[in-house]
Amino acid sequence: SRGIYWFRRDLRLADNPALERACRSHDELLLVYVDEARDAGVTAGRAWLRRSLDSLSADIARIGGRLHVLAGSAERVIPALAGAAGAEAVHVSALHEPAADARDLRMAQALARDGVAMRRSAGRLMTEPEMVLSKVSTPYRVFTPFLKAARPGWRHRPRAAPERLACFGLPSGMQRLQTSIAAPEPDWDRGFWEVWTPGERHAQQRLERFLERLDAYPGERDCPAVEATSRLSPHLHFGEISPARALEAAQRRGGPGADKFIAELGWREFAYYVLNHWPDSTTENFNPRFDGIDWRHDEAWLDAWRHGRTGVPLVDAGMRQLWHEGWMHNRVRMVVASYLTKHMGIHWSSGASWFMHTLVDADLANNTLGWQWVAGSGVDAAPYHRVFNPVAQSRRFDPAGAYLRRWLPELRRLDDSEIHAPWETGASPHGYPARPIVDLATGRAEALERLARAPKPA
Ligand code: FAD
Repeated sequence: SRGIYWFRRDLRLADNPALERACRSHDELLLVYVDEARDAGVTAGRAWLRRSLDSLSADIARIGGRLHVLAGSAERVIPALAGAAGAEAVHVSALHEPAADARDLRMAQALARDGVAMRRSAGRLMTEPEMVLSKVSTPYRVFTPFLKAARPGWRHRPRAAPERLACFGLPSGMQRLQTSIAAPEPDWDRGFWEVWTPGERHAQQRLERFLERLDAYPGERDCPAVEATSRLSPHLHFGEISPARALEAAQRRGGPGADKFIAELGWREFAYYVLNHWPDSTTENFNPRFDGIDWRHDEAWLDAWRHGRTGVPLVDAGMRQLWHEGWMHNRVRMVVASYLTKHMGIHWSSGASWFMHTLVDADLANNTLGWQWVAGSGVDAAPYHRVFNPVAQSRRFDPAGAYLRRWLPELRRLDDSEIHAPWETGASPHGYPARPIVDLATGRAEALERLARAPKPA
């Protein structure tokens, strides 16, 4: 029989339960990716996707198959393909994003009317969001009890990639949909490829390299100048590696580094859990108290933040790392998000939207959780009065200023005592703002007043 395998955010061959099921169920497969975002503009994620698909195509070709990248709306393309190819079923990995899942359901119903089954398998998460509830049958709002309840279910033996793929070609009449994803122009993504190589093989290599340094992870993971974290986030986002494989490898390695790393994978599970139980949280404050805050609308400030020109070295270094590499260290993500939402008083959604455009790991669930956590408006969020002091953070986590010097050439000549807060010592480096766009003490006080002024919801 014939089946269709529709790749989405599971751009891998190994440990892919949906693909394994498709191979088991059919004699021949048609492998497709549907590019639906051609007109949605350039993003860092799209630049990654382009290379990830190239890598997947090459891996598929190596085992005798072929990947077809098609343009159009999946809701039209997939049923048309299934009909033209005489396919029995369409196989996918579940995305676990409410809007996408609702669309899958509609598509499954439409396909069923034509006698085609849609087979969805898990693989993107280790915890199906519906499967974990508290004793009173409500979803968890706090991470630690969620992790405690979810983790015992994370047992997994990774599966190998298929050895051969028996594929059939695109039905005639469908060839006109073939496309490829264009490179960004101008090549603003070139900095990305100094540090990243998309694709399954590199995801596995990253994991292996990280495991060699796993013991240092708990002690060094907060230092942005050190490469102490796994940097698996874009690979996980695009499904080039399964979280279960990362979990299993860390468990096998063991020790306190493994526990800490598994807890971080747990935050990803929690982010998807929250997104599924509270789908509105991508746009609405989880805590309605925040609806009454009088947020500031200031394009010039927002622009200075986006482009690393706030005059606060750690904030600017982070925003420039983001622009250059398409990624930012987690500690610095917290600091830049805090400066935007607290000191500048700008709504978290403006920052979240910039991150969604510029991060190679841009992920609706993780990004929403991260922003609402820092803003104080989210599930199990940081208390609102916890306003990160970017200078104290810089002195603590980058004491020798190595991260700052790397991203802020204007400050390279300052010594360690000046670099974290140049305005305090009267150093005014050429080409760098003479003082922060928002003074740290004033910004903090105003942030606290802003919440105090917000009317309490009835
Ligand atoms: P590691 O420390 O090696 O962690 C391993 C994996 O665990 C990560 O790859 C990631 O998948 C997961 N993880 C780690 N920390 C978190 C977390 N706090 N929340 C959810 N998952 C986590 N992560 C994204 O993948 N995409 C985003 O769009 C994103 N936006 C964020 C926005 C803000 C404001 C903040 C504060 C955090 C955001 N994060 C996001 C979470 C975190 O910063 C990144 O996952 C992490 O920096 C990726 O680096 P790593 O792979 O080296 O992490």
